[in-house]
Amino acid sequence: MLTIPGRCWLCQLPLACPGWGVCSCCTASLVQPQACCPQCGLPALSGSLPCGRCLQRMPEWDAITYVTDYLPPLSTVIHHLKFTGTPSLAPALARLLLLRILASRRKGRIQLPDSVLSVPLHHARAWRRGYNQSALIATPLARWLGCDYFPFAIKRIRSSPAQHTLTAKERKRNLKGIFRVEIPVAGRHMAIVDDVVTTGSTVAEIARLLKKQGAATVQVWCLCRTL
Ligand SMILES: [Zn+2]
Ligand SMILES: [Zn+2]
Repeated sequence: MLTIPGRCWLCQLPLACPGWGVCSCCTASLVQPQACCPQCGLPALSGSLPCGRCLQRMPEWDAITYVTDYLPPLSTVIHHLKFTGTPSLAPALARLLLLRILASRRKGRIQLPDSVLSVPLHHARAWRRGYNQSALIATPLARWLGCDYFPFAIKRIRSSPAQHTLTAKERKRNLKGIFRVEIPVAGRHMAIVDDVVTTGSTVAEIARLLKKQGAATVQVWCLCRTL
């Protein structure tokens, strides 16, 4: 991906505000409303009622907000953020998510949380990369929305073996005991920020822990949700 200063990353047209990274036309097409289940975020007939899957078995979290499916062009930008050492892409990506969060709030689907948390990387991986991409997205989001942000609220106690070859059940078992909540959350409304939610097993495990510690509600904010 080639980013030319002052031009949109996606269509290369000049930007009115260079810091935005993505022009208003591309932003409008990315954050187009789509009919999806408010609970799990997967495509559904109604955008306001939980889908059949959720009615059978509710996810651990109360709501999920994301910008798009994990597809180009956004997936390409996220890949660069994570793997090519370009943390400077994070604020513009966070802004796309901000627009989506504000739209969901206007529609009454979500309320703003008290506190924002980010999914931690294992320290070895964070050390190799030099930054945690979820924290880079959560930091400006919390500031813009006036929420508290606790970067070290969730501690990853051990690294998880690769998840992608496992079944849903195995993933769940694999994540048991991996995280610890380090702050008091009883009665508080929380949002967990991750860059990409695929099966949702990681954010589900954190949501489960937060609820166990008495959190009032837990929502998930991510750039992409694999559909
Ligand atoms: Zn553009
Ligand atoms: Zn659902």
